[in-house]
Amino acid sequence: MFQSSKIPDDDVLCPFCVSGKTREFKKFGDLRHHARTKHPIEMEHAPKGLFSTKTCFYFSINPLEYSKLHGVDEEMSPEVQYARYLMAK
Ligand SMILES: [Zn+2]
Repeated sequence: MFQSSKIPDDDVLCPFCVSGKTREFKKFGDLRHHARTKHPIEMEHAPKGLFSTKTCFYFSINPLEYSKLHGVDEEMSPEVQYARYLMAK
């Protein structure tokens, strides 16, 4: 399975930060923590499961690698719809 020496890149982006600066995270857990501490107002309006493992797919920089490692939430749940809305802004 790990034939390539390339390290899978499953970095994620903070959907609430304006582009640039430190909005890139190595782990979705770091992103979740960041969102809770830095964006409490946005989090109040966001669906509860927005930063679940599978929903974070929509915040990933490299979706193919991310889906291999963590899977994808393919259902059109409120969380997924919200995630897509945030990333389309
Ligand atoms: Zn942020």
